[in-house]
Amino acid sequence: MNRLFLRFFALVMLSISVATIAIYVSITIFFGDPLEEVAQQQASGQILLLTEYVDQAGQNEWLTRLNKIREIAHTQMDLIPLQPVLAKLTQARQAQLMRGEVVIDVASKSFYRRVDLKGERYVGSDEEVVHAQNLPIDVAPVLKTEALRYIIVALCLLIPIAVWSSSHWRGLQALEKVADEFGAGHLKVRAHTKERDSIHPLAQRMNQMAGRIESLLDAQKNLLHSVSHELRTPIARLEFALELLRNAAKNPQLEPRMQAMEADINELNALVSELLDLGKLDQEAILNRSEFDLGNSLSDCVDSLHHVLDEHLVSEDFPADLGTYCGDQRLLKRAISNLLRNAAKYATARIWLHASRSEDGSVEIILEDDGPGIPAEERGRIFEAFYRLDRSRDRTTGGFGLGLAIVKKAISAHRGQILVQEGQYGGAKFIISLPVLHQE
Ligand code: ADP
Repeated sequence: MNRLFLRFFALVMLSISVATIAIYVSITIFFGDPLEEVAQQQASGQILLLTEYVDQAGQNEWLTRLNKIREIAHTQMDLIPLQPVLAKLTQARQAQLMRGEVVIDVASKSFYRRVDLKGERYVGSDEEVVHAQNLPIDVAPVLKTEALRYIIVALCLLIPIAVWSSSHWRGLQALEKVADEFGAGHLKVRAHTKERDSIHPLAQRMNQMAGRIESLLDAQKNLLHSVSHELRTPIARLEFALELLRNAAKNPQLEPRMQAMEADINELNALVSELLDLGKLDQEAILNRSEFDLGNSLSDCVDSLHHVLDEHLVSEDFPADLGTYCGDQRLLKRAISNLLRNAAKYATARIWLHASRSEDGSVEIILEDDGPGIPAEERGRIFEAFYRLDRSRDRTTGGFGLGLAIVKKAISAHRGQILVQEGQYGGAKFIISLPVLHQE
């Protein structure tokens, strides 16, 4: 995290340096070198002497006046040939010199200026240049002031950035700590952030993820516990029956025992198949989607269960134009069949199967019975694997508590929802909502 902050700091400093250079270059291009301007001001006395005193002399006086200046002024003023000076200068400065302007050289604290353009001051004066040296030019204070200005700007930028970003760093460090602790196995640990914190949404997502992982691991633990618990009873019975078999020679009632053993083995097999189905649904992220007729499929479910629904009157109520649905037909039929089987187990006499379609194409399927219903406080838990309301009652009905867990997973795989309410005849009323899915 510190490395990240240092990199950010270095990047800001680099940007400020680049900005400083860019400002200097742009000003030089558009308005001329600011340092040269400063130097020109500093050397303005000497320039003034040359232009206002020496240059004002008559034709033969010019050199005399220049010599006078040389004697009294601290500045050295030499006359040198034009060509070697031109060779030293850039094109822009050459043009400046040729126009008769003063060309300042800040580094050597000097300036050049042509004696005259037409050779009127003395013979060959147009081929000579005044080279003034030892000028009182010192740009260091100006450079220092500029540097100070940029340092102050940099600090004014960096301080708020540092204050602003430190809250992010602190938040990120807290998240890092939480992630480390979670990774170390403390599944209850969560990130605590305030709503106004910038990392609050990220922390929330992380907390949701942590919660989901925790509940998944809990569910897995519970599942394993319940499976072993459920398997123990038939296995114990098998063991007991086997013990009896060992003494078969002495026991004449062998046949009924064998049949009981067979029933237990069947029970074990049924449990294992349901468990496997449930496990498959966990992995079945990719549905086997196809377009199928919804009304026909619902009727198929009722027809195929006629042997269990026999004693009950099943009222099918769905419009003729219910249409088709794109989803996993096998999975949805399995869910409806599970609900119908339950209804058959608990209904007194009647079962209602209702389906409708809303304008946006989503589907609602309602299955209701006139049985004992499901108490309000249990409705949240009945979709958990192995959860049964009344164990003694369910033993006789032969369920493992996996049917509704399979239904829930099948509906969730279609991004749908299932909830249970009290029906108008006191029984259970399951409401399934299925959104529109498209063929992939
Ligand atoms: P099981 O296979 O044991 O029936 P389910 O997961 O299908 O398991 O159901 C869970 C529990 O919900 C059942 O034990 C039962 O007590 C209750 N239940 C399910 N459907 C109904 C219903 N239609 N009426 C009353 N209780 C029901």
